Amino acid sequence: MVSDTLPILKEYFGYEAFRPGQKKIVDHILQQQNTLAIMPTGGGKSICYQIPGLASHGITVVISPLISLMKDQVDSLKALGVAATYINSSLTSSEQYQRLAEIKNGKYKFVYVAPERFDSNTFFQTIDALDISLIAFDEAHCISQWGHDFRPSYRTVIQTVFRLRNQPTLIGLTATATKEVIRDLQQLLHVNEDKVVNTGFARDNLTFEMVKGHDRNRYVVDFVNNHKDEAGIIYAITRKQVDQLHYILKEKGISVQKYHAGMTEDARKKAQNDFIYDNVQVMIATNAFGMGIDKSNVRYVIHYALPKNLESYYQEAGRAGRDGEPSQCIVLFSGQDITLQKYLIDQSEMDEIKKSGEYGKLQSMINYCHTDQCLQQYILEYFNDTISDHQECGRCSNCSNDLEKVDRSKEAQMVLSCVKRMGERFGASLVAKVLKGSNDKKVKQFRFDKLTTYGLLKHFTEKELVSFIQFLVAENFLVAEGGRFPVLKLSSRAVDVLKGEEQVFVQSAKVEKKEVVEYD
Ligand code: ADP
Repeated sequence: MVSDTLPILKEYFGYEAFRPGQKKIVDHILQQQNTLAIMPTGGGKSICYQIPGLASHGITVVISPLISLMKDQVDSLKALGVAATYINSSLTSSEQYQRLAEIKNGKYKFVYVAPERFDSNTFFQTIDALDISLIAFDEAHCISQWGHDFRPSYRTVIQTVFRLRNQPTLIGLTATATKEVIRDLQQLLHVNEDKVVNTGFARDNLTFEMVKGHDRNRYVVDFVNNHKDEAGIIYAITRKQVDQLHYILKEKGISVQKYHAGMTEDARKKAQNDFIYDNVQVMIATNAFGMGIDKSNVRYVIHYALPKNLESYYQEAGRAGRDGEPSQCIVLFSGQDITLQKYLIDQSEMDEIKKSGEYGKLQSMINYCHTDQCLQQYILEYFNDTISDHQECGRCSNCSNDLEKVDRSKEAQMVLSCVKRMGERFGASLVAKVLKGSNDKKVKQFRFDKLTTYGLLKHFTEKELVSFIQFLVAENFLVAEGGRFPVLKLSSRAVDVLKGEEQVFVQSAKVEKKEVVEYD
């Protein structure tokens, strides 16, 4: 029998209705069925185990690899009048011992722990002797070796959990899971197919925007000034960018904090608290900021520079609008960031295979910046989300602009045929030089000035041509293969364009109207 849980939602949490997926998950757990919940960030995963936890007779143990979040979660439960505690490495051993004793005495309904806790025999024996109704695995993708953040110590917890005398119900929760990860988690947590609740990754309250060709500092200052009463995060790549931008905004009298790994721990903690508790409106940060930050009223996330891949982009952008209210996610694109991101991959300590994977992911991020497709749709397709509605979102900068679609099939043919004639061995910048008719040394050296495509698009700037080529890559007319210096190759779609069987349309701002040279 599933008890009516709506009163708990209203009474404890003050919400009127369940969000998509929540009720189903709560019901499965109350029927003591192991469950897997896949919901986007801000979808409301915590309530999915907190409500059954409150409705059950026993204790709920929440395992989370995010130590920084535990205290917040426990504090918010305490604020609701629920007895909750946590044990992790931030406590002294005597504090840990005391909490364990209190848990033994039945003082708490919710206990948050890090996976490592299960390595301790004392901890295991303590909970083995208790009435545990539910064990929740937060950030469950970290259990799977296919997940992008695999933590081996998390995996061993599962064997320990299955050794418990009285088997509690298990729930795994994650916001990022590919098909392989879902399958793996199902097997590990013994979840039946019909107890996987996947609401997809779509975030209907987020508006994705791509901004190109602006003075970025000015854009940020204007944007922040126009959103004075709203909280926002601005991500930059380097500490130097963070410091500079922080200085600029501060000079303009904007209430702003900064966060990066080069600051002392105290300074970071203060910055984080200032932002969380609304003492400042704007946070400028590197990607070191955000993991485990639960601030629901972030109205915008601006990426001042190109993120390294779509996984991190969606996670960072996803920190906007966790309360479900409309929020903006903006990328300020500048071509030079591609070089910076490639440099960072190149300089990293990853092995060659990993590096090549990272270059590939960066290429998908670059494609995102150049596509004319709905940005939300692009992201969902990238994550193989088969659940969410794949209609165009109607909100993103590609869906909502009123630019005209212009037929650029002729120019596309010229580019494609130039790539072909250059032997499909070079990258966008050299192809652009050849089409521009540049006197560049390399162009001469390879005798590309003798090609019939040489100078064919001289009316465009090299920058416009590179951008057009990147658009052709994003739309899969061209494929950019290889690591740091990808080489352009024709795709099967390119052949259709060259044969005149497929047309190429571009939003008119992408390649401004110039004289079109006929190509034979
Ligand atoms: P997640 O862990 O999935 O990222 P949270 O559990 O932190 O998300 O929830 C995100 C926000 O949504 C929180 O502020 C939470 O209180 C709120 N929330 C959760 N469920 C509901 C609901 N049914 N109605 C309104 N707000 C909700």
